[in-house]
Amino acid sequence: MISVKLSGISLCCILALVPVQGVYPDARTTPLIHVSTALAAALEQITPDRLKGDVSFLASDALEGRATPSRGLEVAAEYIAARFRAAGLEPAGTEGYFQIAGRIHRTANLEGFRLELRNGDQILRANAGDVALVNDEAVEIDRASVYKVSSESSGSLKATDIEGKVVVFLVPEGREGRSRLRSIRRMGAALVIAIADRNDFAASMDRLLDPAAMDKASPLVVLDTLHGREFAESLPGGDTVATASVTISKALDERVDLKNVAGLLRGSSIDPGLRDSVVILSAHYDHIGIGTPRDGDKIYNGANDDASGTAAVIQIASALASLEQRPKRSILFMAFFGEERGLLGSRHYVRHPLFPFDQTVANVNLEQLGRTDGYDSRKLATATLTGYGYSNIPDQFQRAGELTGVKVLSQGDTNRYFSRSDNYSFARRDIPAHTLAVLFEFPDYHGVDDEWEKLDYDNFAKVTRMAALGTFFIADDPVRPHWNETMQKKSAE
Ligand SMILES: [Zn+2]
Repeated sequence: MISVKLSGISLCCILALVPVQGVYPDARTTPLIHVSTALAAALEQITPDRLKGDVSFLASDALEGRATPSRGLEVAAEYIAARFRAAGLEPAGTEGYFQIAGRIHRTANLEGFRLELRNGDQILRANAGDVALVNDEAVEIDRASVYKVSSESSGSLKATDIEGKVVVFLVPEGREGRSRLRSIRRMGAALVIAIADRNDFAASMDRLLDPAAMDKASPLVVLDTLHGREFAESLPGGDTVATASVTISKALDERVDLKNVAGLLRGSSIDPGLRDSVVILSAHYDHIGIGTPRDGDKIYNGANDDASGTAAVIQIASALASLEQRPKRSILFMAFFGEERGLLGSRHYVRHPLFPFDQTVANVNLEQLGRTDGYDSRKLATATLTGYGYSNIPDQFQRAGELTGVKVLSQGDTNRYFSRSDNYSFARRDIPAHTLAVLFEFPDYHGVDDEWEKLDYDNFAKVTRMAALGTFFIADDPVRPHWNETMQKKSAE
């Protein structure tokens, strides 16, 4: 039996707003929205201290900022699995609670790097400190002739122009330049030497590759503009008399098993169509790891982004799993790896779904729930969802907010953030999906100072109870969520 504890800030606000079952004995006066005593008691289990417990561990220095891949990320995955186990969720991964994604972690090997370009008596030599490298195999080129792709001619370039040659390309700034470079690398050149800002390519020297989907592209040397521009500009477009001699070592590979964490709360409906359908409640548990030191601190802890969302998933799971009367549909609780490297964990999930898409009714993704100090104002007892007008999911959270004392509403340009978290992977598969957040932007975002002490845990608990109730409503509603017309129009574009 679940007893209702009448203490703490949470229940008083829930009870003040929630007509508890039994208060309205006459069916005709029973409001459409009500929350049972048992459900109110379950929500009551979501407390500031419990959230603080999870966030302070996940965002501790011991986990070193949970980069994908890293030892800290591994430990975080084990922690989340342990919390799902403690909540009594069914393991829903491919190995217990883990959905394993085998990847090759490939890093450039700068050792032995050598590059020499000659054009008559003009000689340019570069060493490892001047370049970024993106290659797979070793490269050994001795006095090969150079083909210069000028930015004017790059659009009309054919593979036969550059096949087997060493290409020099002065990359125009911006997205356009990078996409030109990408297509040049697919034309079969022996090597592409790109003249660009080396720092822009530093991250590409560290790649996570799916062995089942390896991309073939020419090896790339990014020679810093400072170093290479003059030489490149002195060359005419097309075939030249210049030569290149280059030595690059084979990249270093390590096999890594990345993990999404997945736990299921089985639905209660006797109708298998409802019971076997799932609502996915998710958050990403990775962050950006160790980086440039600031004031002696080099650990980017990622407390609000997104240990907060992860802690909320954990606490909502254990609150809802304590219910004797579970929601009609199943809820799949998930923590994703690699969001910060481009939604890697959720993209892996949608390529290898654990439940069929036609039975997946919604994804609600949680981000940045703990901080209330926005740049422009303090956000107390309020929350929003990305792509607010795109589906009717926000309506359920609005109702949940009315019952828990949280204003859920569209704030600012919510569409701008729609593609910026894991909900987007699901939306692209046509599953109504949003990210729920208190703030999209906050001081310390992706900074060394995103620490667990800075979260407002009272407000965080309040918002998490709202998120739990909204998730319950979606999972208990026999009518599945749907996109609104605006989104249908958008996807037809
Ligand atoms: Zn995030």
